[in-house]
Amino acid sequence: MLKIDSLRKVFPGSEGRAPTKALDGVSFTVEEGAFFTLLGPSGCGKTTTLQCIAGLEAPDSGTIRMGDTVVFSGSERILIPSNKRRLGMVFQSYAIWPHMSVFDNVAFPLVHGSRRPPMAEVRREVAKALEMVELGHLSDRPAPMLSGGQQQRVALARALVHQPRLLLLDEPLSNLDAKLRDTMRTEIRNLVKSVGITTLFVTHDQVEAVGMSDQIVLMRGGSIVQQGTPREIYLHPNSVFTADFMGRSNLVPGRVMAGGSTGRIEVPFGELAGTVASGLQAGDRAVAVIRPQAVELLSEADSTSRENCFSARITSLSFLGDVVETEIDAGGQKLVLMLNPYAGYEPGQEIFLHVPADRCAIVPADTTEQSQ
Ligand code: ATP
Repeated sequence: MLKIDSLRKVFPGSEGRAPTKALDGVSFTVEEGAFFTLLGPSGCGKTTTLQCIAGLEAPDSGTIRMGDTVVFSGSERILIPSNKRRLGMVFQSYAIWPHMSVFDNVAFPLVHGSRRPPMAEVRREVAKALEMVELGHLSDRPAPMLSGGQQQRVALARALVHQPRLLLLDEPLSNLDAKLRDTMRTEIRNLVKSVGITTLFVTHDQVEAVGMSDQIVLMRGGSIVQQGTPREIYLHPNSVFTADFMGRSNLVPGRVMAGGSTGRIEVPFGELAGTVASGLQAGDRAVAVIRPQAVELLSEADSTSRENCFSARITSLSFLGDVVETEIDAGGQKLVLMLNPYAGYEPGQEIFLHVPADRCAIVPADTTEQSQ
């Protein structure tokens, strides 16, 4: 449906400032009907990518294909304008027009677009779009007399009314309060899935990305760090950056003992088998990523005969209701675990742990970690 190839974009510096390399060779493919998310910290190039796809920014080089059509090609000097790309867009500031009714807002792309269908068809299409977002009953209401969530739904209806082939959503939830954001997250996902439209979503919020997406591209400094399903990215990070960005992790420094897909790392409390990121070889400095929920507790007897078992001492416990956040000391290495609140552990207690090898990702030590 959408194929991005080697997209590059440098914004020239102004007033003595250096140019910014916003996109540094970004490539990805979005399958038809997918909910596809560009995720990453502020300034990593998500919006620039989206704007290049929207035709609101021209990349310096690369190719953008939508279906069979090349809409941008640096080498072939093709640049199809935004209004010919059949896109629906919703931005952070939903930008619905306050002086218009809900109906007029949604009708706008039809009435002012290139096709301009007869009024009876406009009314039919607007009614259908408002039904989709469950706002049919508010068609005549002035836009300012709507709640934040309703305004967001008007913006969605307006984006969908001319049956675009691709829906672009740039942080559409960030102006909503936390509770409404949760509701709208599910609503948007359900809506675009029921319409079946391919959707490209931009967010810096990893919870949003994990909860809504079929595929996530994680970006940093104008490049893609990792692409995969939410599960793949969360459970099998390929870098310290991904591990850290996607949630809480224990990052245990060590040295690779054996490379290959299932290798080993030497860490302060012994040796761990795990999945080794590509490119790492024996002797390289590396980090074992262990999620706080990944660790199993064993009896002392069970722990002696298995790999990836070690003992540790509980240093502190913090009862959080659903879980007990537990700090432990394993051979001088501090780790945080999330334990079952019914288990009844005590500070100072010795425990025996098992990290299943498929829950331990061995990734390169990140020397640029502090620079972003
Ligand atoms: P955010 O989540 O804060 O919106 P982002 O990941 O969407 O960030 P972009 O807006 O794509 O990031 O910006 C990427 C880089 O390009 C940033 O360093 C930004 O400052 C720079 N940039 C973006 N637009 C321009 C512009 N028009 N002129 C100069 N620099 C720009």
